[in-house]
Amino acid sequence: MTSSARTQPDRCPGVLAVHQAADGGLARVRLPGGLLSAEQLRLLAAASIELGDGNLELTSRGNIQIRALRPGAPQQLSDRLYAAGLLPSISHERVRNILASPLSGIDHHSQYDVLPLAAEFDRLLCRRPELAGLPGRFLFALDDGRGDLGAVGADVAVRVLPTQTAVLLLGGESRGAEITLDEVPAVMVAAAEAFLAERAAQGSEAWRIAELPDGAVQIYKRLGLLQATAVEHASTELLAGPYEQTDGRTALVVTVPLGSLSPAQAAALADVADRGDGQLRVTPWRSVVLGGQASVRDLEPAGLVVEPGSSWNGVTACAGKPGCAKALADVRADAREVTPRIPAGRRPVHWSGCERRCGRPAGGFVDLVAAGNGYALDGVPVAAGLAEAVAAARGVQ
Ligand code: SF4
Repeated sequence: MTSSARTQPDRCPGVLAVHQAADGGLARVRLPGGLLSAEQLRLLAAASIELGDGNLELTSRGNIQIRALRPGAPQQLSDRLYAAGLLPSISHERVRNILASPLSGIDHHSQYDVLPLAAEFDRLLCRRPELAGLPGRFLFALDDGRGDLGAVGADVAVRVLPTQTAVLLLGGESRGAEITLDEVPAVMVAAAEAFLAERAAQGSEAWRIAELPDGAVQIYKRLGLLQATAVEHASTELLAGPYEQTDGRTALVVTVPLGSLSPAQAAALADVADRGDGQLRVTPWRSVVLGGQASVRDLEPAGLVVEPGSSWNGVTACAGKPGCAKALADVRADAREVTPRIPAGRRPVHWSGCERRCGRPAGGFVDLVAAGNGYALDGVPVAAGLAEAVAAARGVQ
């Protein structure tokens, strides 16, 4: 949708701006860099059990959602999150959409640990009153040099270069301006401010830089930066399994089937995190990173996925029925029925209850959309044999 045509208000949910879905209130908790302590995960799980449907949903931006909040529950939820340090800014809570490479500072592919830069950027962002006016969909990303966040199409991204500098990339483009690592937090803030200024100058209501005519070019101009450095994006796939840390220990990437974390699964993750370094990182791919010699022992029995060859890797779904009033099918139930019947494949799969395709992954994917009497797969109705059709479309290995 073009910015000039936009008439809808920005209803992107937060903790304070809860969205009313068919199954009750929906709150989204921002986790800059995906960071979460084991204690905070337990608190979120308890809040969902007592105030919502009991589950925690991992989102495509590395955040966590709680659904089916009862009337009056949002106030209790925000009080609990504030006490736990998960709501550090009342004014800016919906604009803290900050991704960082999930294995930053952990493995040998990390060229620089961007998490301290992300924390400093978050601090600066929350100190600028005008930036509370950013759209809730405006996305920031800090890539530690491996290129894994290239496909997320962040509005303002930085990527570390082998020269220990960084490139500023706007509007999801792959050519940007080189800056020093020290400059990263302040330049990201300046880019967000320049977006708001350019949007106002154009009389636009755009939510994203890519929606603003000539947006990236105009923002580089406002920043006085030259768009001269090109980068290549890597595969976004972060498979479940062990990853060797630079300190000799082993980190574990755990896929959460359909991004829906049950109370038992949340408890298992928190317990394993406590036996490691006490921290978790929520990724944009419905998985969680556990650093510091994490053990798989308690995870698989809880239904979590730790095998790189699992067919659950790369399978996502929107809320579907009964949570969403627009849904034409219970897509999660259908995905749970079909996915174990097919081997792992090369292409990700996204199940959608309607044409809006909420929560779809960045980049290419097998596109399953409920049609009322079945599904359309990549736009073509599937008459019979859904599992076989999905397997063929995934490029099963
Ligand atoms: S894709 Fe459609 S059915 Fe699914 S959550 Fe979005 S609006 Fe609802």
